[in-house]
Amino acid sequence: MNLRYGTFYIGGAWVDPATDRTITPVDASTEEPLGEVPEGTEADIDRAVAAARTAFDSPAGWSSWEPARRAEAMDRLADAIDRRADEFVARVSAQNGMPVAVARQLETGYPSAILRYFAGLARELSTAEIRPGLFGGDIEVRREPVGVVAAIVPWNFPQALAMFKIAPALATGCTLVVKPSPETVLDAYLLAEAVEEAGLPAGVVNIVPGGRDAGAHLVAHPAVDKVAFTGSTAAGRAIAETCGRLLRPVTLELGGKSAAIVLDDAELDLAKIGEGLFGATLLNNGQTCFLGTRILAPRRRYTEVVDAFTAFTGSLTVGAASDPATQIGPLATARQRERVESYIAKGIGEGARLTTGGGRPADPERGWFVRPTVFADVDNASAIAQEEIFGPVLSIIAYDDEDDAVRIANDSDFGLGGTVWTADPERGAAVARRVRTGTIGVNRYIPDPAAPFGGIKASGLGRELGPEGLTAYQRFQTIYR
Ligand code: NAD
Repeated sequence: MNLRYGTFYIGGAWVDPATDRTITPVDASTEEPLGEVPEGTEADIDRAVAAARTAFDSPAGWSSWEPARRAEAMDRLADAIDRRADEFVARVSAQNGMPVAVARQLETGYPSAILRYFAGLARELSTAEIRPGLFGGDIEVRREPVGVVAAIVPWNFPQALAMFKIAPALATGCTLVVKPSPETVLDAYLLAEAVEEAGLPAGVVNIVPGGRDAGAHLVAHPAVDKVAFTGSTAAGRAIAETCGRLLRPVTLELGGKSAAIVLDDAELDLAKIGEGLFGATLLNNGQTCFLGTRILAPRRRYTEVVDAFTAFTGSLTVGAASDPATQIGPLATARQRERVESYIAKGIGEGARLTTGGGRPADPERGWFVRPTVFADVDNASAIAQEEIFGPVLSIIAYDDEDDAVRIANDSDFGLGGTVWTADPERGAAVARRVRTGTIGVNRYIPDPAAPFGGIKASGLGRELGPEGLTAYQRFQTIYR
């Protein structure tokens, strides 16, 4: 792959960058360059925000369209994305190491499904309601689009997480500046081409890949009305501070360290639960925010659980992201591998028992691979149980009874995802209700577009997806009549 772009998609046109700075995306499986794109700087962000502002403020423009007309454009965009499915898969998986089998499900079909779902919500959108006032008269409650949205996305699911923001923004009539992460820029150009093909009005979606400084400039830009961010808790805190100072609405989807609670009646036959378990604990090489990477195991079946997870994790196929047989690809960057290896060393130093993995595979030689790893006998207070590793590393923690399992699950700074594994789904749901987390699954986990997704505590603020996700892109106006 050698893909070269020289412009940004801003204001419905391909415009020259303000500087000659460039980004070179790299193949995580081979460490070879994949092409080159311009790096967005402050002047490029200014231009993109101005285009989004003009598109939003235009009197007969996007924000004033009937929602059903916007929905048609969103459906066209979903079709244009689907037509590029193979290219999205190839580009995303090359850049961030996501196995193609995962990318096919979650970086193509899933984003267009989100877009179509929100197009459906747009068709039902009620933008004004009259209700009787308590003190006489009528009250008109209006829902207006919030305005220009700054959407800042990470590299782990670049298309899905961009669509978590683009779809509700388009449905409500907002315009956006999307800033992809420097690690995943080539898929962002495909998205820009799809936006162009779908015929969205100029300036409704503007895309400027860039680094942290470009992101910080976008967040603080005076013409931005709302910020939507997914990424690390550290960056989220910095963004929240800026938005706090500016009193600017912000949604934050941040890190996690969720619990996968194995109840004492759980099915451990991997032929039956392997796929669901994989999606809930190791998806995308462990580089997924909602994963249950703390496995809580009942003492009564502790050895059995450790053996099952060790066998399951140790049997996963490690290889190049482009190989359809690969289950665990490389980590996205050299820095990410260093981080994961430092946690593996910490786990060993803290006295946890390594049962599989623990280092680089002999083969492949190149690429940022780490063998999927399991630690048993982990203390929930230790660093590997409390901090987000963001790699294929599971920690198994023993518990005494259900209350103890819930206590350990809740003993975390984070609260994003999690799962309960049990033969009795009702019992599983009862335990799930006691876990302080934004989302949790019983014997499965997938963020469904039809329901709110997001975290509590250090996992973030606000919700994306579901009808509830629309409100972050709306502001209310009340007229007492
Ligand atoms: P990051 O949070 O630094 O970057 C994510 C996005 O935010 C990128 O587009 C980046 O350019 C931008 N950004 C960073 N700082 C910013 C700021 N102050 N203002 C505006 N934009 C800013 O994540 P990273 O450095 O790529 O990864 C570091 C760690 O973050 C990972 O190891 C992982 O633990 C975590 N992470 C979590 C998620 C998630 O989905 N929750 C995604 C990616 C990374």
